[in-house]
Amino acid sequence: MSAKVIDGKAIAKKVRSEVAVAVAKMKEEHDYVPGLATVLVGDNTASTTYVRNKHKACQEAGIRSIGREIPADISQDDLLAIVRELNDDPTVDGILVQLPLPKHIDDEVILGAIDLAKDVDGFHPLNIGRLAMKGRDPQFIPCTPYGCMRLLKEMDVDLNGAEAVVLGRSNIVGLPMGMLLQKANATVTICHSRTKDMVEHLKRADVVIAAVGITEMVTGDMLKPGAVVIDVGINRKDDPSKKRGYRLVGDVDYDSCAEVAGAITPVPGGVGPMTIAMLVQNTLEAAEHKLSQS
Ligand code: NAD
Repeated sequence: MSAKVIDGKAIAKKVRSEVAVAVAKMKEEHDYVPGLATVLVGDNTASTTYVRNKHKACQEAGIRSIGREIPADISQDDLLAIVRELNDDPTVDGILVQLPLPKHIDDEVILGAIDLAKDVDGFHPLNIGRLAMKGRDPQFIPCTPYGCMRLLKEMDVDLNGAEAVVLGRSNIVGLPMGMLLQKANATVTICHSRTKDMVEHLKRADVVIAAVGITEMVTGDMLKPGAVVIDVGINRKDDPSKKRGYRLVGDVDYDSCAEVAGAITPVPGGVGPMTIAMLVQNTLEAAEHKLSQS
């Protein structure tokens, strides 16, 4: 079998252009343009690139973006003050604090201080709590899992009663992913570093979400034929043929899994572009919600 490639780049482009249309309509009808504020603490290269890409995506969708770049030695109280200032700013609809934060700052305190109505990353404990509860909906869904769900939707994957296996249980990917799949009526198994026999679970999975951070950990022989495989992982693999000496690969061994899977996301070009597209979507949703309340 040769799997269908799930083209995250193309689907993300579609999401971003839908948002751009809605933003243009909002501008025309309400004379209002949504705004996203990003907070970048320190100069971590990967974080700086992620934030830059987020601003670019906002710009393309017609969303205003405001960047706050803050030295790594900022105190927790001073960072809290910045978050509160952005909470009070009526031109800011979404606040994104780029993770990871420096070790001396408790991210639970910072993320918990973001106004719920502006929590476009969806990491506020109340948003996560609502995601976990039956009959409740969060105001925002964390961007990466939201993007994975959109990929499954675009591929017409029937989650009703499907066996879904999520590899990883982090607060930002694995945990919310499992809750979203469960809300969509899948039977969900979450595997993690202490799982005894991951392959036993994988073998019966109709849908696999890999979010572990281990290079090409999942191989084709672990999969049920026809499974839909969403690879969230972004890992560096040595590659002397590349100028920078490495290339990006996922948690899934693409070549062997593509032989067995029914559909699969590539890395890069799968989940990565969706994460940014869903952030832009969440910022639009924040502005729509605000306008509907006024
Ligand atoms: P994390 O380190 O916070 O969590 C990793 C999880 O994997 C943990 O829950 C751990 O229990 C589990 N794990 C570790 N070893 C395991 C094993 N042998 N078997 C099964 N589970 C195991 O990582 P994260 O923040 O959730 O990110 C996971 C990966 O996804 C990373 O490669 C990260 O770069 C990537 N990521 C990509 C995007 C994107 O937009 N594409 C967004 C976020 C994270």
